Amino acid sequence: MTKSASFSGILLRWYDNNKRDLPWRETADPYAIWLSEIILQQTRVDQGMAYYLRFIDTYPSVKDFANASEDAILKLWQGLGYYSRARNMHHTAQTIARHYRGMFPADYESLLNLKGVGDYTAAAIASIAFNLPYAAVDGNVYRVLSRINGIDTPIDSGQGKKQFAILANELLDASHAGNFNQALMEFGATLCTPKNPGCESCPFNKLCFAYKNNKIDSYPVKKGKVKIRKRYFNYLVIDHGSYTYLSKRTANDIWKNLYEFPLTESSEKSDLQQTLAESQAIFPLQTQLLLEKESDWQKQVLSHQHIFYRFIYLKIVGKIKIPASLLKVNKKDIFNFAVPKPIEKELSKCNWF
Ligand code: SF4
Repeated sequence: MTKSASFSGILLRWYDNNKRDLPWRETADPYAIWLSEIILQQTRVDQGMAYYLRFIDTYPSVKDFANASEDAILKLWQGLGYYSRARNMHHTAQTIARHYRGMFPADYESLLNLKGVGDYTAAAIASIAFNLPYAAVDGNVYRVLSRINGIDTPIDSGQGKKQFAILANELLDASHAGNFNQALMEFGATLCTPKNPGCESCPFNKLCFAYKNNKIDSYPVKKGKVKIRKRYFNYLVIDHGSYTYLSKRTANDIWKNLYEFPLTESSEKSDLQQTLAESQAIFPLQTQLLLEKESDWQKQVLSHQHIFYRFIYLKIVGKIKIPASLLKVNKKDIFNFAVPKPIEKELSKCNWF
């Protein structure tokens, strides 16, 4: 099943009859398409929609986005994860505002040069906004093409990426490039889903290798699992009257440039006494910390790391000397800061704030 005309004909007909009404499908504005594509790399359509609407409402143009502060962008992005993507978007918006007079470049190579824009996003913008003939290959496309054609080259190998890109570009209907790409992604997202695909009603079911051979769960093939790193975070929630303290994560690590409670990290679950001794080391000797309460250990799963974390509530007694790395924050202002998921969850249940 690789004849492009019949493949695209079937696909585009299916798309006409089944596509969801989504706001970014009502525009050819490359800014809106870029925004939606980057957000949808992070989350499903139903969750991504609220983020998209919030961004487009707050920053109606790429120039507005460029003029925002990074803190404000990260706050709107909060909860989506992969915060480097939000920082890259900010950088790209500033590049477009400064070097392209606020207009997205209308060619694939220039799009590809923008920070955070890879093959997939460049092809999506080029095809949807400018109808240029570039196939956008994402996880949905790997799944659909591997199943229909019975391709068992691992999708996480260089060879696999090349093979699927060549095939997708062969199948692409160049005169309807934007619709073709959206149709293939929509088909993978809503019908040829990872679990329980709708094969009975699928227009390709008479041709699909995986369906005919009862091997749907065998595609796509992946080479190997990612090694997971385990980390243990003890967050120190300081109770200082109306105030608490935050620090900004500045290292090249997860959640860069987000705010968090002062933190001690350990290589395994440390006991409370050890953590309290380490906590005291964060603060100069004149400051005394009194334990108020501690939370249970909880877990945050990221793609390459598992973060085990807990919150230790400490009251400041005696002399106060706060290190320069910490930011004194009025408790009622804490929701203005962009914070990682574990802290967002804790703030939602803690009656302190
Ligand atoms: S028949 Fe099933 S596995 Fe094959 S393309 Fe259709 S939905 Fe996907």
